[in-house]
Amino acid sequence: MRKLLITIDGPAGAGKTTVSKALADRLGYIYVDTGALYRGVAYEARAAGISTDDDQNLEKLCQRLNLKFVNRGAGTLLMSGNTNITDFIRTPEMSMMASAVSARSVVRQALLEVQRKMGEQKSAVFEGRDMGTVVFPDADIKFFLTADLKARASRRYQELANIKPQPLEEVEKDMKRRDENDSSRHIAPLKPAADAVLIDSSHISAEAVIEKMMTHIQQAFDRD
Ligand code: C5P
Repeated sequence: MRKLLITIDGPAGAGKTTVSKALADRLGYIYVDTGALYRGVAYEARAAGISTDDDQNLEKLCQRLNLKFVNRGAGTLLMSGNTNITDFIRTPEMSMMASAVSARSVVRQALLEVQRKMGEQKSAVFEGRDMGTVVFPDADIKFFLTADLKARASRRYQELANIKPQPLEEVEKDMKRRDENDSSRHIAPLKPAADAVLIDSSHISAEAVIEKMMTHIQQAFDRD
């Protein structure tokens, strides 16, 4: 069977992580959460006292950073050098900082190489914002998963309940701001690739989204 490179882009809270992991599991592929890399840069920038618009120091930081994913039992850990930073990158503060550093071209350029290297062997599901448009324009199958703001905010609200609870209105406000940042930036803005399959998950379950995606994936296998 041919090795596919599958990309899933879309705004925060559309359900990308759940469906990307499930697809990777079903296919025996690796799953790469590229948002975690931007969060890793944000986390290390804050630890080093570098502000999110200080390109010179962000560039140096990216040159010395060694971010990698390590599979551990049920989950994947994000390592920065030898330190496990998985538990520190999911807070609302890190979400906003990740969005800010991700608009800097020095950061995007550094992570572009890291991501392409991770995708060299294919057999992978990459989740992010610019996977199908910039990082892997030749991906075998591209999905763009979206949902209305209310549905996305309510999902993120539930996720945050276990990490750092926040009132629903605040979650919705932050999410709206982050979407606006991500969609309006000059480099690699959040948008569907021209050849992406669009799926709206506002009113359907994750399982239904996965089934829709599997239909497209099966068609790609059948074409071989
Ligand atoms: O997907 P997640 O919410 O973890 O991503 C955090 C932030 O990282 C996003 O809001 C976005 O600004 C940035 N990001 C990006 N490009 C990607 C993945 C994430 O700009 N491919």
